[in-house]
Amino acid sequence: MELAAFAERARAIEAESADTDIVERVTDLLETAGADLPVVARYVQGRVFPAHDSTKLDIGPALCYEAIAKAAGRNVTVDDVEERVADVGDVGEVAARYDFGGQQGLAAFGAGAGAGDGDGNGAGGADDLTVAEVDAQLRDLAATEGSGSRDTKRDILFGLFNRAGDDEARYLARLVLSEMRIGVGDGAVRDATADAFDVPVGEVERALQVTNDHGEVAVVAREEGLDGLESLGLEVGRPVGAMLAQAGTVTEALDDWEAAAVEWKFDGARVQVHYDGEETALFSRNMEAVTDPLPEVVEFVEDALDAPAILDGEVVAVADDGSPLPFQEVLRRFRRKHDVAKAREDVLVEFRAFDCLHADGDDLLDRPLVERHNRLEAALGDAGAEALSALTVSDDPDGIADIEAEALEAGHEGIMLKNPESAYTPGRRGKQWLKRKPDVETLDLVVTGAEWGEGRRAELLGTFEVSARTDDGFAPLGKVATGITDEELEALTELLEPHVLGEDGADVDLDPAVVFEVGYEEIQTSPTYAAGYALRFPRFLGVRDDIDPADADSLERVERLAERQ
Ligand code: AMP
Repeated sequence: MELAAFAERARAIEAESADTDIVERVTDLLETAGADLPVVARYVQGRVFPAHDSTKLDIGPALCYEAIAKAAGRNVTVDDVEERVADVGDVGEVAARYDFGGQQGLAAFGAGAGAGDGDGNGAGGADDLTVAEVDAQLRDLAATEGSGSRDTKRDILFGLFNRAGDDEARYLARLVLSEMRIGVGDGAVRDATADAFDVPVGEVERALQVTNDHGEVAVVAREEGLDGLESLGLEVGRPVGAMLAQAGTVTEALDDWEAAAVEWKFDGARVQVHYDGEETALFSRNMEAVTDPLPEVVEFVEDALDAPAILDGEVVAVADDGSPLPFQEVLRRFRRKHDVAKAREDVLVEFRAFDCLHADGDDLLDRPLVERHNRLEAALGDAGAEALSALTVSDDPDGIADIEAEALEAGHEGIMLKNPESAYTPGRRGKQWLKRKPDVETLDLVVTGAEWGEGRRAELLGTFEVSARTDDGFAPLGKVATGITDEELEALTELLEPHVLGEDGADVDLDPAVVFEVGYEEIQTSPTYAAGYALRFPRFLGVRDDIDPADADSLERVERLAERQ
């Protein structure tokens, strides 16, 4: 396919606004792309390389402007180009408006009307750029390194612009600066691939998730149809998108699932480990290769694993005593290109594994989380056990709160709640993984009642009714039973016993004398409480012995907070 033909279609796509029209035009483009299908499927969404490929062009605006200025002729300087881009706001438009070297000659012979809109694109001459040629040149450009590479890159780019007509230059400039912006995203190419080659869109989606390569998926769909797509799987060494989490609450998790798989949330940086049985490759959340900066993770992996695997986890920085360091410390290690050995002395990192996508020949994406976690544990074995993120399946909010308290105590960020039955969906931010929302503003509430504990705790008060202040008394908002250690229960019992007004079975009526700081996930309207509000997932954070009941939070403040939610 000639670049001019691609540019003409890109222009037509850009002119559409409705999604269905865009998909229709992309479908047509894919159908006519011939041998250039893999390249065209990427270029149309502004990608030169597949998403899993860390190769970069490394072309900044300055270099691109230099190439444009050089191709535009002696009278044009880099500053001119820069000014125009600042003015017009689109490097493509600026590139399209210049008359580039080779085309001036062609235009003089009237050969410039090939792109259908008479704007001076090349028209089938021997020197016309093809998509394949652009691709080859851009790959050469990306491979250029070492001293003098900047000039070489600029010259390759100049060579391309020098032979480009208006629209070719428009999309070339945008492509190399990752500013294609013709309204074609992953979804449009996915739908167009399904339409063009008559395969189910769901299967195209799955194939994209495991390969991260629109080009490859389009070719397989065209040549091998549904069977071919189904046979595409994970490949050790080729990263997939990380499954992502959204903010959520324990209540949501337990409402939606029978039980939640609870894990500590480590404050580090996401890493996908690929071990092929001999070598290890590490990838960041954006699928960038991060193997070189993290040698101790590579050493750990090669020590622990004895069969090929793809693991998902977090790399955390740790202090000498093993406690976690802030996440910025990890980032410093990630970015480090030189003197890695020195960096390693300064900041030690460790791997925490929480998922397993592939183990010893088996793709596990479709398997339930709990099963994947078992495979992870088996893959890590004794040698890697210290890296395994502990997973507890629980339907008990108190138990979950205890895990959270432990996580915070150990210096971590909090907890993750995951659907134990859920599959691994690469690159998706779904509702199957929730990072527990941090508590909203806490409330200082008066303890107006309590309940004696059970069994081992029968001598201790265990559950505390907490209330907001009203004009003429106190309005209960909920019962706090979580977030309290045994020692704290003893101290609280001692503190509250002098204020007991009366008892009825396990229920204790208390004189309002003690104030608790209470955390919660949400204030909800409640038909059962007289105040009309109740706290969701209330937790004990501490005694406010500096505050009198008369200064505790009022019901009015609770109402205001509820409205703000
Ligand atoms: P956030 O970056 O705030 O969206 O939180 C989600 C991120 O937490 C994930 O992308 C991981 O990098 C990180 N994380 C830490 N611990 C875990 C865990 N146990 N399970 C999943 N993700 C985790």
